[in-house]
Amino acid sequence: MTLIFCGNDYKYEIEGIMKLFIPASRFKIVYSDTAAGEEEYAFILERDEGAEILLSVKTVCFGKTASREMLLARDDSSDRELLLSKMLFECMSEITGIRPKWGVMTGVRPVKRVNKYLSEGYSKEEIRNILSEDFYCSEEKFEIAYRTAMTQADITSTLPKYSFSLYVSIPFCPTRCSYCSFISQTVDAGKKIIPAYIDKLCEEIRYTGKLAAKLGLRLDTVYFGGGTPTSVSAAYLSRIMRTVSESFDMSAVREYTVEAGRADTITRDKLEAIKQNGCSRISVNPQTLNNSVLQAIGRRHTAEQFLEAFALARSLGFDEINTDIIAGLPTDTPESFERTISGLIDLSPENITVHTLSIKRAADLNRSEEKSTVLRSAASVMVDTAAQKLLSNGFAPYYLYRQKNMLENLENIGWSKPGHESLYNIFIMEEIQTILAVGAGASSKLVDLEGGRLERIFNYKLPLEYVRSFDYMLEKKKAVERFYAEKE
Ligand code: SF4
Repeated sequence: MTLIFCGNDYKYEIEGIMKLFIPASRFKIVYSDTAAGEEEYAFILERDEGAEILLSVKTVCFGKTASREMLLARDDSSDRELLLSKMLFECMSEITGIRPKWGVMTGVRPVKRVNKYLSEGYSKEEIRNILSEDFYCSEEKFEIAYRTAMTQADITSTLPKYSFSLYVSIPFCPTRCSYCSFISQTVDAGKKIIPAYIDKLCEEIRYTGKLAAKLGLRLDTVYFGGGTPTSVSAAYLSRIMRTVSESFDMSAVREYTVEAGRADTITRDKLEAIKQNGCSRISVNPQTLNNSVLQAIGRRHTAEQFLEAFALARSLGFDEINTDIIAGLPTDTPESFERTISGLIDLSPENITVHTLSIKRAADLNRSEEKSTVLRSAASVMVDTAAQKLLSNGFAPYYLYRQKNMLENLENIGWSKPGHESLYNIFIMEEIQTILAVGAGASSKLVDLEGGRLERIFNYKLPLEYVRSFDYMLEKKKAVERFYAEKE
């Protein structure tokens, strides 16, 4: 498929709209005033016609053609990029028969937009109208985004000044899941590097502790992620967690999460070590309760193991447990997904996070028999089922984000029982608190809300390069001091 631009260069946004309908595709980009020679294309035109400006979109694909045109007065200040995006959205909806529910809101954080309008004093009705008319956002997605924003409002108002969260990366897993997009190494492959990695990780924790103390920053939340932190032994977990509590003032910490993740890494001694070292919240993630789907995605554990791990965690006194599931996994069906979500609700965890699988290749899509009626995935049905069941069982959405290449631009949503929302997840998604991150693959996010500044510092991705280039990486962290010096 070719995207042809004439009189404009709205490549980024237009490509984003096309990916709503044909995700994970690569588009040929051409700048030309003709579509001659192209078979399947979208032609995006902006042309000066004297007193007026002509905007026009023509799409030819799946054996169908659709087009839209409009004339704008020369002094009309409307956002032409947005208008062309909406025209393309209409053309592609006409051709494919699908109307992505977030409309032309292609960004990663749709709730941020709602929060922005709220902070500008708009009412719910006004925001609903803006999102529907300007962005073609459906009523259903607006409601989820608005409810999420409302839950967040209660929490963000409690954000302490000069606070930060600490992210600790343990980038190892027992095996690699087929859909994994994280930086993680199998424990077997990483066996040799793990001791050296943990030495350096503890060194970086101590360094960051001194930095935070020097800058007068108070630790608010701690999050251990990866990989799967429980891939390493109980002794290593204890050592890392002790290093955290010895390096920071923990007296103001409101939340401490460790992702226990996969059931095949969870043992009594690890959970005890985590609990004894101050963790208040864990994640135990089945992804699905269907064993054949677990096998298909390369997770070396069963639904029964997940249930045992969950029960063990409860028996050890963990009263804040999150469970992750994924809609759209290979070989999963809406019926089996519904059984998964019902099974989890019966367990009554405090949080359930529903992810949507992102599609790596266009070939992963289910093309319907008639090529022209296109590309639907069961994931959207699954996401709707999850929302309906969770809402009717007392859960509310509290954070929401999207990733690239999700069919129909679906989303990941963190659902929570009231009062059990994870602070860290909200702060990182809404980018309202500094995150100081340690370990391979981690990235620190420096936030200055008043000054409107946001800066990122990336650590080395792989454990080996992290260990080898550790000193240089610490040098890069001096940017944290510079950032806060400029804030003064
Ligand atoms: S458990 Fe998570 S991080 Fe580890 S391989 Fe699977 S998807 Fe990737």
